[in-house]
Amino acid sequence: MSLLPILEFPDPRLRTIAEPVTEFNDELRQLVKDMFETMYDAPGIGLAATQVNVHQRIITIDTSEEKDNPLVVINPQIEVLAEETERMQEGCLSVPGFYEDVVRPNKIRLTAQNELGEEYVLEADDLLAVCIQHEIDHLEGKLFVDYLSPLKRSRIRSKLDKLHRQKV
Ligand SMILES: [Zn+2]
Repeated sequence: MSLLPILEFPDPRLRTIAEPVTEFNDELRQLVKDMFETMYDAPGIGLAATQVNVHQRIITIDTSEEKDNPLVVINPQIEVLAEETERMQEGCLSVPGFYEDVVRPNKIRLTAQNELGEEYVLEADDLLAVCIQHEIDHLEGKLFVDYLSPLKRSRIRSKLDKLHRQKV
């Protein structure tokens, strides 16, 4: 297993739209393992393949306290189940250090495949529902900062730009 480097906003590769997974092979399963290792190490509760520069529709999630409830989400599709929305503070491993409120539907039905290609259906609410939507956004090249005001987004961008310059 290995830790994968995580792309950070405003890296343009985070804007890539991911392709569906068609082959459920050992290579895919290794990637899923590496994504979990990377996510737990960060630490984070969700990671989309886009964030590790693999542009396929693969997500790893674990919203449990104990970090013992891994969820593999491949080729996801969601349906909103309720009108209610939830305002929740979101962060992102690709936007490190910034937490902002985002409003999203709080009850969804997810249809996806696991790493063996088996389809499952899951109803999710609250934190899990928000996390799934946040990660699916990544597969569409979208980030939670896109929901913020242009002013807030550009402030975050310039702070991260500065940090990235210092790292080089
Ligand atoms: Zn994220």
